[in-house]
Amino acid sequence: DRLVAAAPDGEDRAVEAALRPRDLGEFIGQERVRGQLDLVLKAARARGATADHVLLSGAPGLGKTTLSMIIAAEMEAPIRISSGPAIQHAGDLAAILSSLQEGEILFLDEIHRMSRPAEEMLYMAMEDFRVDVIVGKGPGATAIPLELPPFTLVGATTRAGLLPPPLRDRFGFTAHMEFYAPAELERVIHRSAGLLDVEVRPEGAAEIAGRSRGTPRIANRLLRRVRDYAQVKGDGLVTREIAATALEVYEVDGRGLDRLDRSVLNALLRLFAGGPVGLSTLAVAVGEERETVEEVAEPFLVREGLLARTPRGRVATPAAWSHMGLTPPRQRGE
Ligand code: ADP
Repeated sequence: DRLVAAAPDGEDRAVEAALRPRDLGEFIGQERVRGQLDLVLKAARARGATADHVLLSGAPGLGKTTLSMIIAAEMEAPIRISSGPAIQHAGDLAAILSSLQEGEILFLDEIHRMSRPAEEMLYMAMEDFRVDVIVGKGPGATAIPLELPPFTLVGATTRAGLLPPPLRDRFGFTAHMEFYAPAELERVIHRSAGLLDVEVRPEGAAEIAGRSRGTPRIANRLLRRVRDYAQVKGDGLVTREIAATALEVYEVDGRGLDRLDRSVLNALLRLFAGGPVGLSTLAVAVGEERETVEEVAEPFLVREGLLARTPRGRVATPAAWSHMGLTPPRQRGE
């Protein structure tokens, strides 16, 4: 339940529909992906064909679901939304595929988490718009071929490298989504503020953007918490000061680190003089599970250049010392 988690929480799900850009023009940032996708979709429309299958890779909260909906809107096609973990049997996938309309967009989130048999069925469906439905069991089982209408698969994954090559190769277009620059997040915040009817000063938006970890979902969530604070403690206007104070209250610091991130850095710096220290030892010092430190806290700390994973253990970088307001101990020989 971290305020800076990239995965959606219940409130995100409830409000995100209202905040989603509806077409490519409204979609902020990701210039290259947007330009390429625009060409792919325009060309398909001009040919009167369904668009090629699209693979979107990137961290949670960067806009993959939003883009899939935009693809449907631009193609004036209906969209079906499912996910890899929801498709555990090939039969689950066959049921979805056989009910698609011509030209429909099928969005499969976390496509790397589909079961193997479903994945193999998907290969054939993507390539030949056909599936073999197996009826019966054992020696008497027969494969009944089923023709499918042409459709566009939009797959989303956190990393394209997680996909087996045969699946990856069947996408006509692969887009890698990057983390957003602060200026882009400021635009996301201004746009969302308009939709939520919150008045935000440019410096207020900049303050929130700097703490949003390059992720629009987090920017929108922090904006909502800052809005609450501005309503209760101020007159509703989000200034730089209101944003900064509100996010201090929620323990999200100037760089987007929360309490967990800071306690990992604190332990590493204060107890182990910046490391190297083994993951298990660090986790015990923080009072968290190994996995929590490794999978929840570390990826962002590594991305921010505050912590390095070395063969000898975890090491704090000089930036970590200065971010936490501490002076590194002098090295031997200095
Ligand atoms: P993902 O599927 O990658 O986890 P989503 O598409 O659900 O991410 O995006 C999360 C939220 O962030 C959406 O509600 C949307 O409002 C916002 N968002 C994402 N990308 C953009 C963008 N480029 N411009 C504006 N808002 C965005």
